[in-house]
Amino acid sequence: MKIEAIDLFYVALPKIERSADGTQDSLVVRVRTDNGLEGWGECDASPLVSMAAYVMPMSHSNIINIREALLGETLDSPEDVIRLRAKAGEYGLDIQQLDHAVAGADIALWDVLGKHLGEPVWKLIGHDASYKKLPYASVLFGDDPAETRSIAESIIKRDFRAAKFGWGPMGKGYLEDDIALVQAARDGLGPYAKLMVDAGVIWGDNVDAAYQRAVAFANLDVTWLEEPLRSEEVGAYKELSDRVRANGISIGIAGGEGADFYRSADDMMTNAGLDFVQIDVGRIGGITEAKRVADRAHELGIQYVNHTFKSHLSVAASIHVFAGYEEFDLTEYPAGESPLILGLTEPTGIFRDTDGFVRASEAPGLGVEANLDAIRQYQRHVKMEIDGQALFKSDEP
Ligand SMILES: [Mg+2]
Repeated sequence: MKIEAIDLFYVALPKIERSADGTQDSLVVRVRTDNGLEGWGECDASPLVSMAAYVMPMSHSNIINIREALLGETLDSPEDVIRLRAKAGEYGLDIQQLDHAVAGADIALWDVLGKHLGEPVWKLIGHDASYKKLPYASVLFGDDPAETRSIAESIIKRDFRAAKFGWGPMGKGYLEDDIALVQAARDGLGPYAKLMVDAGVIWGDNVDAAYQRAVAFANLDVTWLEEPLRSEEVGAYKELSDRVRANGISIGIAGGEGADFYRSADDMMTNAGLDFVQIDVGRIGGITEAKRVADRAHELGIQYVNHTFKSHLSVAASIHVFAGYEEFDLTEYPAGESPLILGLTEPTGIFRDTDGFVRASEAPGLGVEANLDAIRQYQRHVKMEIDGQALFKSDEP
């Protein structure tokens, strides 16, 4: 089949709050082919910056937009998706945010190819099976311990068996404040649920501050401390994880969501001493690149976990990436209030089975469709013009 159209939909809630909640807006990408199929993908980045990467005029041979790289191309096999992902990378070598933007198209290419061949994406990318994953409810800390505790209680009422709290006030006060927040999360979840803490890069390169928290949180049975340091502080990460291990502190060190191309993820896996590598399929350039990281993590004995703070379109895409690795048994599952989390997909979200697990679908493609009514409801209409000539105008879904 031939790629006939790449459509871009910028969806956003009416009011965007200044919080670390990535589920307030999105860029959704649709790939249409000449045999009437369509595939859907999502980028995790500024929607308008990514949109420009699809339509801006050529600057030179290393700045050619993503649409140009894909339109009219042949798409019949997994090799074609991998070739097209590389082609878009070459065309856009010097485009800022190229990897974030092309992620949406890459995911949509896998989706439409799966529908064409009648296979789920996890099979096309080389997995033999789709193993169950325990979804952890991923939420932000409340503004104080009391609010955090009530969020934790609501997660247990919704039958989750694992939760991650992140950002908010963590690291903005004293050590005691941070402990009180995590204690409140643990109290609300009870003793049996898994608890993870996401520090949101708050301690920069301060290994001592991060180590103190690692010790304190380990006492509250926290599975991992995520992004205690900035992504680029690879040496500081290594110092922290070495110190945690040398002193027998029982907590994992997690990071990697900041990796927006394969090589930076590989750098963190090789040099940062991570126990968990967290990769965002909507940032690192799509399923093609995320699968390379999952394979490498498997070789290195590091647990791959998806980072996802977008809609369930991204959750679906993420689970295919590591579906066949039984030991990678946790999956991030956005559980906040944004109507875009569940609303953007049909059926509504990735269903948990009766035991509370999720797994990549057996259906062709990703196994979810975009919900056109939700796109219509939240779509922001964009028109880009140069010298009065239309460069881009939002399509109707
Ligand atoms: Mg995080």
